[in-house]
Amino acid sequence: MDLGIRGKKALVCAASKGLGFGCAEALAGEGVDLVINARGEGPLAAAAEDLRTRFGVEVTAVAGDITTEAGREKVLEALGGSADILVNNAGGPPPGMWTDWGRDDFIAAVDANMLSPIALIQALVPGMMERGWGRVVNITSMAVKAPIPVLGLSNSARAGLTGFVAGTSRQVAGRGVTINNLLPGVHDTDRAVALDAGAAKAAGISSEQARARREASIPVGRYGTREEFGAMCAFLCSDKAGFIVGQNILLDGGQVNLTL
Ligand code: NAP
Repeated sequence: MDLGIRGKKALVCAASKGLGFGCAEALAGEGVDLVINARGEGPLAAAAEDLRTRFGVEVTAVAGDITTEAGREKVLEALGGSADILVNNAGGPPPGMWTDWGRDDFIAAVDANMLSPIALIQALVPGMMERGWGRVVNITSMAVKAPIPVLGLSNSARAGLTGFVAGTSRQVAGRGVTINNLLPGVHDTDRAVALDAGAAKAAGISSEQARARREASIPVGRYGTREEFGAMCAFLCSDKAGFIVGQNILLDGGQVNLTL
């Protein structure tokens, strides 16, 4: 299927590896020119070169923390102030106990996983509306539908973004702009490996045993891949997806046990 987005310009945040890179890769495969971002300059430059070589698209790498105003200004400057597609992503907040977190921890989580994506939506969606076409995908988490108790900071901040998107997506849809959320379940990225290591330590088992336990809780029986995640993101960003508005799409191998 031709997704109809060849030659469009996308910003993919937090994209030197993992799910963000999977999205950048899938968009590049559809002929989309990219601005990609992450904090670490070396891995980001390597990711950009990999995408240029494999897909022949233009890729600009902008190193910086997307959860800061300075980081966002740098990417917006590289875009010349406009993009057709925005994929919002950032690292997830650390796990912990609800009794451990103070105001500063909550502010940091809300800044990273709620206010930063909202700031980029506010910066880029008006231009999309003027041009009559745009796509926004926010990478959130399955924790929005089924809370993960040790990720209370993530559960809280992402619920806030989800509420914002629910209303705002309906306000912009009439101008050809869609905003949707992609909710990853467990995917085979460095983040998942780190969470396995934490769970292993807490339970006094090996990381392999912790992974096997988590895999057994997923009906598909394995972790998801960045390629599967990227393919869904590219479809949501496609010209074919103009009737999908304000949705929260779970990619979790069936792990969240819900009828609807
Ligand atoms: P990952 O493999 O650790 O990759 C994270 C990427 O984001 C890296 O490129 C990292 O590069 C970049 N990054 C992190 N913080 C950043 C920041 N402040 N500014 C700019 N770039 C930043 O993580 P992932 O598994 O792809 O997870 C992506 C998101 O999905 C996270 O929010 C995570 O909580 C969520 N999620 C993941 C899973 C899963 O199973 N993987 C499940 C549910 C939700 P630098 O470190 O160089 O900046």
